[in-house]
Amino acid sequence: MSTIKELGTGKYVPDWCPGCGNFITLMAVKKALSELGWNKEDVVIASGIGCSSKFPQWVNTFGLHGLHGRGLPMALGVKMANKKLKVIVIGGDGDVYGEGVNHFIEAIRDNIDVTLLVFDNSIYSLTKGQASPTTPRMMVTSSSPKGNLSYPLNPLSLAISQECSFVARSHTANMTHMTDIIKKALMHEGFSFVNILQECVTFNKINTAKWFKENTYELVDHNTQDKMSALVKADETEKLPIGVLYYNMKQTFENAHTVLKQKKALIERKIDEADMDSLFKEFSV
Ligand code: SF4
Repeated sequence: MSTIKELGTGKYVPDWCPGCGNFITLMAVKKALSELGWNKEDVVIASGIGCSSKFPQWVNTFGLHGLHGRGLPMALGVKMANKKLKVIVIGGDGDVYGEGVNHFIEAIRDNIDVTLLVFDNSIYSLTKGQASPTTPRMMVTSSSPKGNLSYPLNPLSLAISQECSFVARSHTANMTHMTDIIKKALMHEGFSFVNILQECVTFNKINTAKWFKENTYELVDHNTQDKMSALVKADETEKLPIGVLYYNMKQTFENAHTVLKQKKALIERKIDEADMDSLFKEFSV
């Protein structure tokens, strides 16, 4: 079991802006891993590009910092090669719902056992405040000085409509709640997705910690296995519900696949040289 201190990176500290919501989520993830009793050597964190995607640099687990929108496919590859690892993907709203939205949909369809945490501050922050897929309509940004004309994507509705195995929302103004939700997502067998509302203190002056407290409420007595109820909750806009919205226990890709479902992970198996020779012969020109 790794402690929060062991999961940190010692004297190296994140270069995020003071007050950035990333700090809260970083602590919540470390707390969740520590409370679950997981060892840092068993965890891989993959990310794309963005302020939040620097995350793997600040956690003392294995990490992969990839290309824009490509955190998910790297993570799925890791999980298929070694299903015994715990695999987490970190991305922002631009990274996952913009450049990487195709991978998001594919991950839902495949239901491979990885956890996706989206740090949703409704803005492209690393590239200086352009409108992202979750920017509210008419919000003024550096790329929409007269107001954003596009309608925002609702990632929760999208995930639930496609029967994603685990769908939840939390926010950075309530770290206890967020830690609890992250732990539930990590424990879930199958593709788990948490949309984390968080503040970008530099480029989004609307969705602040105060705004999250005033405009959200915790779900109680909600039937997480009822798709229609989950869709209704995901569609609420007056106050945003936080908690697990939808839970759908279905067979994972790795438990259905003839090769992957075998007890040994792919990396633990010996490559049969004779088989490789016949493959090379078959595919050589
Ligand atoms: Fe955080 Fe925004 Fe600063 Fe990026 S620009 S580090 S998201 S506050």
